[in-house]
Amino acid sequence: MSEKFSVLRCIRCGATYEASEVRYRCDCGDLLEVAHDLERLRAAFPNLRERFAARAGSTQFPYASGVWRFHEMIMPDLPAADIVSKPEGNTNLYRTDKLSQIGRAHV
Ligand SMILES: [Zn+2]
Repeated sequence: MSEKFSVLRCIRCGATYEASEVRYRCDCGDLLEVAHDLERLRAAFPNLRERFAARAGSTQFPYASGVWRFHEMIMPDLPAADIVSKPEGNTNLYRTDKLSQIGRAHV
């Protein structure tokens, strides 16, 4: 693996590409998967479970996101300052009077 924590790796031939590339297919034509160097991640962030648990319910950007709360497992090489988030995940339920009439009070 490269110096980065993650690469894009071909599921057929194993060729690798920078994870920062916007690319979906290998030169051989098959799909790419995101592959993390888990041993290096574990060594660099030995307390990930506690870190993720501490971020649960956070209102701080970008960790209010239910996705980016797991930043180190999503895209560890991306600086937090470069994350773009709505925030997605942890979507709230909202009460709707019309839907409550058919038994669905929250959407
Ligand atoms: Zn390939």
